[in-house]
Amino acid sequence: MSDEAEHDVVTYEVRGHVAVVTLNRPQYSNAQNSKVTYALDSAFVRAVEDDNVKVIVLAGNGKHFCGGHDIGTPGRDIDESFERKAVIYWDHIGRSGVDSRLARESEVYLGMCRRWREIPKPMIAMVQGACIAGGLMLAWSCDFIVASDDAFFADPVVRMGIPGVEYFAHPWVMNPRAAKELLFTADRFKSDRALALGMVNHVVPREELAEFTFTMADRIAEMPPLGLALTKKAVNQAEDLMGMRSGMDSVFGLHHAAHAHNAEVAVDSLAGLDARSMAKANKMSPVQGA
Ligand code: ZN
Repeated sequence: MSDEAEHDVVTYEVRGHVAVVTLNRPQYSNAQNSKVTYALDSAFVRAVEDDNVKVIVLAGNGKHFCGGHDIGTPGRDIDESFERKAVIYWDHIGRSGVDSRLARESEVYLGMCRRWREIPKPMIAMVQGACIAGGLMLAWSCDFIVASDDAFFADPVVRMGIPGVEYFAHPWVMNPRAAKELLFTADRFKSDRALALGMVNHVVPREELAEFTFTMADRIAEMPPLGLALTKKAVNQAEDLMGMRSGMDSVFGLHHAAHAHNAEVAVDSLAGLDARSMAKANKMSPVQGA
């Protein structure tokens, strides 16, 4: 149990017409637990309901944007119940096996990321340092990504026998062959490689990241809000017509087959891997990009 409050783990501020939602667990590389996802959800609702806010920037405080899902900090809250806000599924608490895991991950991972992708205001992810696994889900839920030259990305959950993180956008945000390579190898890839794959829109020096992102956000904020909302929906609909939504639904089933297999034959649903062993393996994996 952690004594971190919701308003501590995610901060919210408005700069002109831009809401800045910031992950704020820098001591844990902004590892993402349910307290964080519910706090993000609250912050995004606040930004949507404020007519003064035209654009949302999602940022991470500290050296890293987000090191992934919380599978090992003192604030890990997988066994906690939260005030039901999203109500995508019933509460996972008091249930077991797939009945628990599917409920929890439908709500706090896949369901919430999908809700955020549909937010009717443009969202820019501003990414520095690590953006690993669960961090990718947050960045991919945004409309596009501006990354610093020190940013690096990876989805290493195949090490757990799991076919990628819950929000399985990989083949659409890069391309199917790159997705296969980066999932098969668990390689980390730097922002220049992500740029070449079309996964990020811009790479800028670390010290220019905030200024570049906010300048772009301010420019977008001058456009008519309805035009932005309709354009966002138009592109999202096109992406879904390319199979993203139904593809994610089918892969979510594979993801849960993998969790269930692990729970059946290994020590737990993560095949016995934890934050420490994953971090160690990730550090040893090659890095693609300059
Ligand atoms: Zn999962």
